[in-house]
Amino acid sequence: MALLRRSEFEPAYLDLYESGELKHRVEHALELLADCAFCPRACRANRLADKFAVCKTGRYVAVSSFFAHFGGEDCLRGRRGSGTIFFSWCNLRCVFCQNYDISWEGAGHRVQPDALAAMMIRLQEQGCHNINFVTPEHVVPQILEALPPAIERGLHLPLVYNTSAYDSLDSIRLLDGVVDIYMPDFKFWAPEMARRYLKAPDYPEAARRAIKAMHEQVGKLGFDESGLALRGVLLRHLVMPGGIAGTREIMEWVARELSPGTFVNLMAQYRPDGKVSRKEYVEIDRCINEEEFQKAVENARSAGLANVWAGNRHVV
Ligand code: SF4
Repeated sequence: MALLRRSEFEPAYLDLYESGELKHRVEHALELLADCAFCPRACRANRLADKFAVCKTGRYVAVSSFFAHFGGEDCLRGRRGSGTIFFSWCNLRCVFCQNYDISWEGAGHRVQPDALAAMMIRLQEQGCHNINFVTPEHVVPQILEALPPAIERGLHLPLVYNTSAYDSLDSIRLLDGVVDIYMPDFKFWAPEMARRYLKAPDYPEAARRAIKAMHEQVGKLGFDESGLALRGVLLRHLVMPGGIAGTREIMEWVARELSPGTFVNLMAQYRPDGKVSRKEYVEIDRCINEEEFQKAVENARSAGLANVWAGNRHVV
């Protein structure tokens, strides 16, 4: 386990702010918003003029909630919680989405950059260990735009980019030196599955490209003396009924293309939701069983991975 001294740790974005580079990134990101290709859908909507496309988000973000989150990985929540900011809408169309009202129906409120900055500061003042942006793929320019006012008010927590991995390379480049912890959820390996369940047949290829770029920026996950994650990649994978996610192929790819020491969280909490019912997507209208989960663990072990967790239980 890579150990980083807390006393020597500074979030990456402070240097970018000091050098003036963050200001340039914000300007560049906002220019790109006029012809949006912030995710692989490349809708080319002029979001700067408040037009929108698949992700239903124009010039400003909508936030569904922000709070100190005590679920998820121990290394993020610690004792005082992970400072979660949950964005409304989404660029993927997962038919089994467990936050359907937020991601498909847009529950939440439009928020200006200063208000987004104020949320980060509130979470920091509450003692959260990091700022955790959930479903951020379609709002990268707006996150960047909110950072300078947050930094000017004293923001100094690591930033977590909690993504489906359906990100464009332009996005990930804009986040270089900004994000400390990338948390991609690698969902499906096969294009036909990604087409059926995410409405994005190019998802597997796009996710591989984006996750590799994330890993090149921040490497393996590193922790402070108390076990809190400070920088690196924390890869999630949701195990699906019937093995349809392609867990074996994903685990083999992670071991081969990233590193056998990659921190992987194999998630067992799939439950039918969203559009899944007894009439539609009936093959995934059930939870996974113990045998399916153990098979996923075995896939990770056979792939040579050595840092695999099921929630907060070390399994390989
Ligand atoms: S971020 Fe939204 S508008 Fe931009 S390409 Fe993706 S889905 Fe389309």
